[in-house]
Amino acid sequence: MNPKIFDKLKTLAEAAKFDVSCASSGTSRGNKGKALGTAEGWGICHSFTEDGRCVSLLKVMLTNNCMYDCGYCINRRSNDIPRATFSVSELVELTIEFYRRNYIEGLFLSSGVVRNADYTMERLVRVAKDLRNIHRYNGYIHLKSIPGASRELITEAGLYADRLSCNIEMPSEESLKIIAPEKDYQSVYKPMHYIQQGFLQSKEDKQKYRHAPKFSPSGQSTQMIIGASADNDKKILNLANSMYQRPAMKRVYYSGYIHINKYDTRLPALSAPPLVRENRLYQADWLMRFYHFKVDEIVNDIHPNLELEIDPKLSWALRNPHVFPIDVNTADYEMILRIPGIGTKSAQLIVSSRRYGRLNSEHLRKMGVVMKRARYFITCNELASHFTVQEAKPEYLRRILTLPARKKEDDRQLKINFED
Ligand code: SF4
Repeated sequence: MNPKIFDKLKTLAEAAKFDVSCASSGTSRGNKGKALGTAEGWGICHSFTEDGRCVSLLKVMLTNNCMYDCGYCINRRSNDIPRATFSVSELVELTIEFYRRNYIEGLFLSSGVVRNADYTMERLVRVAKDLRNIHRYNGYIHLKSIPGASRELITEAGLYADRLSCNIEMPSEESLKIIAPEKDYQSVYKPMHYIQQGFLQSKEDKQKYRHAPKFSPSGQSTQMIIGASADNDKKILNLANSMYQRPAMKRVYYSGYIHINKYDTRLPALSAPPLVRENRLYQADWLMRFYHFKVDEIVNDIHPNLELEIDPKLSWALRNPHVFPIDVNTADYEMILRIPGIGTKSAQLIVSSRRYGRLNSEHLRKMGVVMKRARYFITCNELASHFTVQEAKPEYLRRILTLPARKKEDDRQLKINFED
């Protein structure tokens, strides 16, 4: 590869690594000396398609120059970092070369904002357009929409990209005003709205004309930074929930704030990103999308933040012991989904298998139910008089379910004590 292009790639792939809205997260373990490989988090990330396939994407920025100065961003105008910009043709060629060599199955392209939103967006669209029209590239493309970009450009982008995204970044308008005062909520919401309209229009056109072009067939996604502002989980999850009511919104990503711009006093001085909180938010998001939980069942005025110690489903179960135990042989699917230790797949298996006979704990275990957890919340054939959350009391269960797992000794394993 041309060394100039390689240098640009290094800078611009590194610059893109903090954007998690393509389902990838970075790691910082580099290659020391003669080690094999590196886990340094830039270049290739992974994303999941509608049918569950995992695809590897070239994750890169068109430019890391930016006219904005957002407090949480490494690429902000006031940072003294190496800067680079790809030309449209360089980026198109790079993608095609990587694609042909089977390094990647798609492209995730974002950008800093130069000159103005439309100037930048137009270049992003040109990359996608050239890939599709000139090179007949049929791989996956995820384009980041630039806040403030015009409807025409967003509509054009949707004809070439599989997915479009626009990051909300901050969970509330007030925190955006403090941390990124040059941006306004409208400039983020408008492109989101254009994407939604394009998506709906294309659906309507498709019903009338079989060959009508598809608009952003994988819908749109967005990202919120967690922990950079004082917004609580109730605010974050309510916002995410309202996003999911929008027809084209497929995923909301939660990105634990990384304290990069240490000199910026508007931002909290976190020694590490709030990864446990980030994980709990993903679990809560999952409960909303697949387990039919309402936001106010997960967080409310009394519990505005998710518990870090236990997952949100267990937390809900311990706060609502009166709902349990649930009889897995008679309860409906919705209730079975609420039992800690039972996932959507095992809940479906339970409902379909009990038509052939009563289920016992062995059947449940074989279906993938985590009995260690579920046993306190269910009754089934041989667990009828089992010690449940009603008898055990939630505080006691909380204690035993959060005990660190003891390492099981395998007694089939020969033990040899080596002397030092
Ligand atoms: S507009 Fe985007 S790239 Fe520019 S400083 Fe803000 S977050 Fe960073």
